[in-house]
Amino acid sequence: MFGLIGHSTSFAAARNLARSLGFEEYAEGDLDMWCSAPPQLVERISVTSPTGKRIEGAYIDSVFVPEMLSRFKTAKRKVLNAMELAQKTGIDITALGGFTSIIFEDFKLLREQQVRATTLDWTRFTTGNTHTAWVLCRQVEENAPKLGIDLHLAKVAVVGATGDIGSAVCRWLSQRTGVQELLLVARRPQPLADLQQELGGGRILPLEEALSEADVVVWVASLAQASSIDPSRLPRPCLMVDGGYPKNLDTRAAGDGIHVLKGGIVEFGSDIGWQMMEAAEMARPQRQMFACFAEAMLLEFEGLHTNFSWGRNNITLEKMDLIGAASLRHGFQALGLDVPAAVPS
Ligand code: NDP
Repeated sequence: MFGLIGHSTSFAAARNLARSLGFEEYAEGDLDMWCSAPPQLVERISVTSPTGKRIEGAYIDSVFVPEMLSRFKTAKRKVLNAMELAQKTGIDITALGGFTSIIFEDFKLLREQQVRATTLDWTRFTTGNTHTAWVLCRQVEENAPKLGIDLHLAKVAVVGATGDIGSAVCRWLSQRTGVQELLLVARRPQPLADLQQELGGGRILPLEEALSEADVVVWVASLAQASSIDPSRLPRPCLMVDGGYPKNLDTRAAGDGIHVLKGGIVEFGSDIGWQMMEAAEMARPQRQMFACFAEAMLLEFEGLHTNFSWGRNNITLEKMDLIGAASLRHGFQALGLDVPAAVPS
């Protein structure tokens, strides 16, 4: 069985969801009441691959909302309690969605393996970041040519380059895609220098300078709020793949040669018949989902009950190949731009 641990995008969205599910006392409750609420197994799901294999899963809402990020103990407890519920439910492989994998890493929850009577078994959990990184790279490779951008001649900025997903994207784009130049953006200088050395290239730039040169931008910074950018400083055409959760990029950036694509989202080949993506602002919530969630499904389809994506900066190209091939085999497609193909000049 596969599992997905998620949360609402805001307290207001969580209250609306609670109302729609008939949890009236939660819908009326204040943030303090939500802070002490336990995780909920909200939905059970079945998915059938084009190969004919059928898998069963469950969606667990951690009852965390981003407004709790500053409440260290609460955020920590929400993630651990949701993991405990997944394990006690007998789920073999569960993806940590949204902020939960970042809370797990940043708050060092590896040290908190004991949750009441349950010893958490880390092999039952995955961040889903390998599939997310693979999907983001595929979105770049499939969509840049639609805008007339030749990636071999293109500068690609990765915002959040030193992160788990960002560093994997950089490795793939430099070694597999062969982009002309990578522009590396993050705040801390030392991890940037280490990444540059590992890649054997790439230019470290502040965000504003990278944006003024980049033909393609992959946004994978862990930002609690979207960045607003000045579109007048961007080259045209420009492809912006927004892989952050919540979205890293103000939607006002789009328009007039600037194409913003929702990053790290995949579409399954048929309707799944679930409710959980309705609240996630997907264009086709019956088929679309976060790539990290899809990773848990892929691991279940493939019988790989292991923490496939775990820790930080461990994602290899071989693992991206493996999960990418599984993604295609089981009927997932990376979300693309809805634009007519560019005529080569
Ligand atoms: P990490 O914490 O590993 O990395 C975050 C990166 O962002 C680091 O390079 C960090 O470097 C950089 N960063 C943080 N703040 C800023 C800033 N203000 N300006 C520039 N760079 C910044 O995160 P992950 O790689 O695990 O995740 C990245 C994003 O992807 C998150 O938003 C996450 O929610 C999203 N995600 C999406 C998924 C999907 O399915 N679509 C699945 C999983 C994650 P530094 O601290 O030095 O600035």
